[in-house]
Amino acid sequence: MKLHSLTAHQIIDLYREKKTSPQEVFKDVLSRINALDSRVHAYARLYRDAPTSCCHKTAVGVVSTQGNYPIPIAIKDNMCTQGEEITCSSRILKGFYSPYDAHVVKKIKQSGGMILGFANMDEFAFGSSTENSCYGPTYNPWDLSRVPGGSSGGSAASVAADEAIWALGSDTGGSIRQPACFCGIVGLKPTYGRVSRYGLVAFASSLDQIGPLTKDVTDSALLMNIIAGYDERDSTSVNEPVPDYTKALVNDIHGIKVGVPQEAFGQGLDPQVRKAIEATMNQLKKLGANVKKISLPHTPYAVAAYYIVATAEASSNLARFDGVRYGWRQSPTDVRKNALIDMYEETRAKGFGDEAKRRIMLGTYVLSSGYYDAYYLRGQKVRTLIKQDLDNAFKDYDVILTPTAPTTAFKIGEKTFDPLSMYLSDIYTIPANLAGIPAISIPCGFSAQGMPIGMQLMAKAFDEEMLLRVAFTYEQNTEWHTKKPNL
Ligand code: GLN
Repeated sequence: MKLHSLTAHQIIDLYREKKTSPQEVFKDVLSRINALDSRVHAYARLYRDAPTSCCHKTAVGVVSTQGNYPIPIAIKDNMCTQGEEITCSSRILKGFYSPYDAHVVKKIKQSGGMILGFANMDEFAFGSSTENSCYGPTYNPWDLSRVPGGSSGGSAASVAADEAIWALGSDTGGSIRQPACFCGIVGLKPTYGRVSRYGLVAFASSLDQIGPLTKDVTDSALLMNIIAGYDERDSTSVNEPVPDYTKALVNDIHGIKVGVPQEAFGQGLDPQVRKAIEATMNQLKKLGANVKKISLPHTPYAVAAYYIVATAEASSNLARFDGVRYGWRQSPTDVRKNALIDMYEETRAKGFGDEAKRRIMLGTYVLSSGYYDAYYLRGQKVRTLIKQDLDNAFKDYDVILTPTAPTTAFKIGEKTFDPLSMYLSDIYTIPANLAGIPAISIPCGFSAQGMPIGMQLMAKAFDEEMLLRVAFTYEQNTEWHTKKPNL
């Protein structure tokens, strides 16, 4: 049996029946990585001990009981892990070894999780294709000439290629959902505040959220059970009881109200994606849901508002990387102004990639005096309007359905020189981050070229259970999630 091709819940069942051990599973996934990753390049680095020890220390000998999940996992390269080099796939953080574990990493270790390695990503999570990495791009397992999406492209590709059983990603404007969509897997962005951001290297602090990338909806619920919950070290973490998400896995959506915004069918939507979403609407109707067209009039402004708010926060968060406290330093060759200033400048000039620099410049500009009101403040006001649209819709609807992305995975290099068209890949995912609500992407079809298509469901804050229920019901009645890339 190919253990690496299984889901986490299938592996847990095998543990319970004593048909395999965590060591065996870990070894099997590791050999899959060794066989494939030179082509897929899902990982920036393997876990320090991974190649030599067949199992993570904390997992050795653990037999699965309730709450104990010795499952091999890929962690995005922006989550601090004690004693490990964590770089956000940026040169400026090379040589930074984290002295502590992020909250989610601690949770994973406590649950017996076995860390395989750190997944490749767009530098500091800036991007939609995982091409902006100092390690070079990750390739889409369904077609190696295409991007896996981003910025959690390494996490998504590792799961789609069976180089991990499941993975963690982070989502600021779509970075879990869009790569999940491009790679044909399930990606969930939880409600803002549901999962602690302690130890996640910040991109845009008011938008970032950590979440699961998994092979199916059941695994998404299981991984949420491990990572969700209050943490006093994150002041935005919400102290609300965490449900058992597996209880939401009910195969029944009779009477559930699904709103489909007409704005999601505008310019730029690939006709094949449109067809798949229309078929999904029909399928949901057949399953008993009440599907209606609605309007979210301010969503067309979401991308513009996002790139003001997100870059403003990013420019401030990135100010700390100056060659002094973290990672890599470029010592100036000859002193022009003074040694300290020259060192800051050269470190940042050589340490950051183009996209990071673009965002620092844009973010600094929209925050500068004289422009603050015209851009940043206005961006925040538009954000409020978008949230109000969604709040109103959730008075009448349980979930909102859209495509996850306007197209399927594009070719490597296709959008490199056109950042604006790259930014548009997140047109459907960004509103959920601006409003702080949960959203999930699940597979709902394939293009004629054989590339996966994904649909997105959004729900009101802290109603992940509704998302899981609708997604689970759809998944149980379709076969998209059972397809695997031919690698
Ligand atoms: N692609 C979006 C951006 O570049 C979102 C990234 C993310 O969610 N981290 O900002």
